Amino acid sequence: MIFGDNGGRFPHCHTLLLIESEEITLFDPQCGRDHLERKLNNVGKSWKNIKNIVNTHFHADHTASNGFIKNKNPNVQILIHRDDAKGIESTEEYFRRYGLNGKAKTHYKSIFKYIGYRQTIPDRLFEEGDLIPGGFKVIHTPGHTPGHCCFYKSGILIAGDVDLVGRPWVSNTTSNVNDFYKSINKLLNLDFNVFLPGHGRPIFNKTEILSELKIYQKKLINTGKKILDLIDGDLTLEEILNKRDRERDTTIWSQNPFMKLFRRYDTLNYLYYLEQMGKIKKVERNGLNLWEKK
Ligand SMILES: [Zn+2]
Repeated sequence: MIFGDNGGRFPHCHTLLLIESEEITLFDPQCGRDHLERKLNNVGKSWKNIKNIVNTHFHADHTASNGFIKNKNPNVQILIHRDDAKGIESTEEYFRRYGLNGKAKTHYKSIFKYIGYRQTIPDRLFEEGDLIPGGFKVIHTPGHTPGHCCFYKSGILIAGDVDLVGRPWVSNTTSNVNDFYKSINKLLNLDFNVFLPGHGRPIFNKTEILSELKIYQKKLINTGKKILDLIDGDLTLEEILNKRDRERDTTIWSQNPFMKLFRRYDTLNYLYYLEQMGKIKKVERNGLNLWEKK
């Protein structure tokens, strides 16, 4: 495991480097390019030894170096789940999934430029149960993104952004709270003792992995409850957002155009979840969408 630059935080993640004789597979190669090159050199390898890049999902803090590596070695095969393929194929689709427009989109484009992001066409699409390089089995774990996957092999789990950092991130327009919950259930049924996340810290103890995963999963339920508690009478999304903002230090949300948007989509995703659970309903009055308790 190569710990990512910037403490493995955005725009970086931890990378898994898997060496099988002369061939190398990289899982989410966004740990930092110089850093990655040094690690390759340390084991007597170079870009030309890389055979495969496997992505856990389409986010740039996992995929931004796909294009750079493909440029160094055109034989590299890029693999991703079919539901996230469009997210790396087209930056416009990337922005659509993030719900970015106007200033936020321009701002995000400058981040893409800074990190040298390039859209790439995947060479192979996988799905639940497929075997990928290194003999890992694909565990489709949607929620964070529709095509998010973890990879499992003899007690080892490559977990991507089921990373146990803070609470599960469901702030894309295509994120889904209930899917994330069910995906964690799927992981809880696996027998593993090595947990390798895309961010945060690895864990090497089965009991601790299971207990941390349950705590992480519970945060989905608790956030849903908190939002449910805010709803009295019928409220618009703006009113719910204002109530949510009053409950915490809002400086970070008001200063960063992404954070404000992420907050909005996060709230919408929880409202959708509460609707699905039969706790609230959405009504339309005078052309306004309103949410009220059932
Ligand atoms: Zn992500």
